[in-house]
Amino acid sequence: MSKEKTEKLSDKLLYKRKNGYETLAAADLVKVDDFCEGYKKFLNVGKTEREAVSAAELMAKAAGYKPFKRGDSVKPGDGVYLINHGKAIAVARIGKNTLDSGAYITAAHVDAPRIDLKPYPLYEDGDMALMKTHYYGGIRKYQWVALPLELHGVIAKADGTVENVSIGSEPEDPVFAVTDLLPHLAKDQNTKPLGTAFTGESLNVLVGSTPYADEEGDKYKLTAMSILNERYAMTEADFLSSELSFVPAGEARDVGLDRSLIGAYGQDDRVCAYSALVAMLDQTEIPEHTSVCILVDKEEIGSEGISGMQSEWFDTFMDDLCQAQSVKLRACYENSVCLSADVSNAYDPNFPEVSDKRNNSQINQGAVVVKYTGSGGKGGANDASAELIAALRKVFDDAGALWQMGELGKVDQGGGGTVAKFMAKRNILTVDVGVPVLSMHAPFEITSKLDVFMMYKAMKAFYEAESL
Ligand code: MN
Ligand code: MN
Repeated sequence: MSKEKTEKLSDKLLYKRKNGYETLAAADLVKVDDFCEGYKKFLNVGKTEREAVSAAELMAKAAGYKPFKRGDSVKPGDGVYLINHGKAIAVARIGKNTLDSGAYITAAHVDAPRIDLKPYPLYEDGDMALMKTHYYGGIRKYQWVALPLELHGVIAKADGTVENVSIGSEPEDPVFAVTDLLPHLAKDQNTKPLGTAFTGESLNVLVGSTPYADEEGDKYKLTAMSILNERYAMTEADFLSSELSFVPAGEARDVGLDRSLIGAYGQDDRVCAYSALVAMLDQTEIPEHTSVCILVDKEEIGSEGISGMQSEWFDTFMDDLCQAQSVKLRACYENSVCLSADVSNAYDPNFPEVSDKRNNSQINQGAVVVKYTGSGGKGGANDASAELIAALRKVFDDAGALWQMGELGKVDQGGGGTVAKFMAKRNILTVDVGVPVLSMHAPFEITSKLDVFMMYKAMKAFYEAESL
């Protein structure tokens, strides 16, 4: 067999994973950078689920979308949105077909691992003021010490007013930190396993060190409290009805000599939230199927609570939309398709032992389709159907959206889940599609700009698909 003939046969029969830079057109390269500048701004203003939802609302409003309420009539092309207690948002664009032909839904989450304050956070010790915390989501505690932190959240007062808190994001703002042990005295700690060397109770955040003049007792605590009082007119009792979180300080940055990567806090899963939302808002034609983009809270702790994906709030919103077209919700769901838009782990050359490289997503190979998540033999997985993936293959390929498939690490290594199974439970065909991430859940997560853009292209192609 001649060499030429062999190559042709291999082109035809064998699948080759492609690095996006080998195929990307020069015109698309400019689009990648433009898109990612917008994405970085979104990351910088959305460091909590509430802030991300506010940013998403502004984007929807700017695109002409209007708040939706039960009983409103809708017509093809209308853009509407609904906010759930400030922590989740559903955005919809009404399609040409009525909802009994199904909606095309993307579901991403806007919460991220962080360090929340306890109800009685403020105390003093060693002539310093500190705050007790209770971390949220899956953090590796050692990563959260000795780095600058910002304080974000809300204080709801008994008089009904709500103060938005943000300290640390402006250049003139102070930041906060959890102190760490000096290596000189770490002999005992160094012998402990990584998972137990740092405890939840040791993640106490340093917030001040000056005594309040002319006061007896608790004077370091009092200084901190007096500054908060000046800034937010709050007393210590107001901590009881607050949601305050320490999050990593600093803005999203380009990473690498070639600036091909983005480093920032909270990219899981604001990268998919942003890509999916912009894909929806960018549609120029009225879609065949109603497009829905839902950005939810609480994914990192099991999609629980009123603002998580398990909440019936989503069903209520969809039912109200269906009612506007005299359609039954179950008829809508059984013809709907959902892309559970969440990140996956990128192959990391520093830790090759945790991945099956052949089946792991890789940086710069585009959006990653994950057929099943779960752990221990696909336990807890959604497991999307072959037919759905086949349909998406065509949609993504036809649109020039580079994509790959991936598994979250080696079979027996661990695993994870997404909102996918909660959408599938609603009788909605669902598959996970996301962006590969390095250092997932760390204070500084890394994505590739090309992958972020390809995620957007994939989401847009999905919304514009005539059928699946
Ligand atoms: Mn996620
Ligand atoms: Mn996560």
